[in-house]
Amino acid sequence: MSSPVKASEVPDCSRHPADTLGMPAEDMRRLGYKVVDLVVERLIGRDLEPAILTGTPEALMSRLDGGLPEAPVDPDNSLDLLVRVALAHQQHGDHPRYFARVPGPSSFAAVLGEWLGTGFNAISASWGGGSGPSTVELVALEWLRQFIGLPPGTEGVLVSGGSLANLTAFAAARTARGSGVAYLTDQAHASLPRSLRGLGFAQEQVRTLESDANLRMPPDALLAAIAKDRRAGRHPFMVVASGGTTNAGTIDPLPEIARICKAENLWFHVDGAYGAPAAATAQGRRCLAGIEHADSLVLDPHKWLFQPYDVGCVFVSRPGTLERCFALDAEYLRDVTADRGQVDFRDRSLELTRRARALKLWMTFRTYGCERLRAAIRRGIALAEFAEACLRGSPATWEVVVPAQIGIVCFALRNAGEGEHARRAKAVSDSGYAAVSSTMLKSRSVLRLCTINPLTTEDDIAGTIDRLARPA
Ligand SMILES: *Cc1c(COP(=O)(O)O)cnc(C)c1O
Repeated sequence: MSSPVKASEVPDCSRHPADTLGMPAEDMRRLGYKVVDLVVERLIGRDLEPAILTGTPEALMSRLDGGLPEAPVDPDNSLDLLVRVALAHQQHGDHPRYFARVPGPSSFAAVLGEWLGTGFNAISASWGGGSGPSTVELVALEWLRQFIGLPPGTEGVLVSGGSLANLTAFAAARTARGSGVAYLTDQAHASLPRSLRGLGFAQEQVRTLESDANLRMPPDALLAAIAKDRRAGRHPFMVVASGGTTNAGTIDPLPEIARICKAENLWFHVDGAYGAPAAATAQGRRCLAGIEHADSLVLDPHKWLFQPYDVGCVFVSRPGTLERCFALDAEYLRDVTADRGQVDFRDRSLELTRRARALKLWMTFRTYGCERLRAAIRRGIALAEFAEACLRGSPATWEVVVPAQIGIVCFALRNAGEGEHARRAKAVSDSGYAAVSSTMLKSRSVLRLCTINPLTTEDDIAGTIDRLARPA
């Protein structure tokens, strides 16, 4: 038990300047307030800026390098340069007309949590070294578990994003079940096979099933592949299902895959990096039914949970699963149930020193409350449905290829020539009005809108579709 230091024992800190490298406190305040103003001004006017802006290496280098500074450079000047040049040239994932890939509609309460954690140099590595931030992470994970609707007892850890979260889950699954063959489809996110390769899985241990006409994993083909591998003496150990593909928002048949995994004694992993937050709404829950059976589940709060980059999350349904893979002390296999109050997060992933990513999530849940978050997610789902209705309103121009489900709709021009979708997406993006991406669904080229920013208006959607209909 530690008690607060008595006032008489507080060392005299007045001898120490506030900043490690000697910046006076009044400058810290002034520059700090300036940063707040710069950020809020940009947020207020964000729909007036281009949704995406890309510079050339020469132009950006010439303005941002200027040689290693031997002497101090005016920080006001540097902040302005960062805002005008560096931060202007990027995809603005929180722009109301950013529809490309997966947007990042970050919220301000989350930014506040992030700033505070950075300012306090918060660490969430061990209980002994960061009991406060670790508690916030435990609480935020528990709130997230309830929000998504996962079973009690589910544990997790926050990492940098979906890629590392999936990798973390795969490593834990391998430790739990022994290495073998993993099954996914051609619609799985590109980072998944990469993560498996990175963990040392050989090509013949990654079975890529052809998705069906609806871009979903066919249970029959999964069963057949498992049986074939068993006959060949291989060890099937994990099925990686998609809880919302990045390409089209399609969801693998989770209940059936869960049943197969149970019957075949395989690990059931769900990659819900972008889609899982939809499970917090009634409509999304119906689409994502079955995620509660996952042995491990990944989601990316920096996508559809309104967090600034970066934060990804991996959940495992059985306590101690992550520690059995990642605990630093090989001798150490703690009784997780007995120790639940004191978690060393360094034992739950490959990160040792790690920042307190949970502060922003904790601030978000408290500041807005679940109902507002659910409403914001519902809005994203509804916006994709509105986009689909717009497209169906011009049947001579557009064909809906994958209907809106959880915030993504894929569509095609009637009689699109080779490269036409990509050209139109580029023309709209180059104009600055909106950011749109095209993709391939199997061998078919399509345009797609991902509409998870609750600030997006119906006019934004209609205006974007209108511009896409014009020849590039
Ligand atoms: C975005 C995404 C990933 C990768 O997540 P990062 O945060 O970019 O590393 C993995 N799977 C799916 C389905 C995604 O949408």
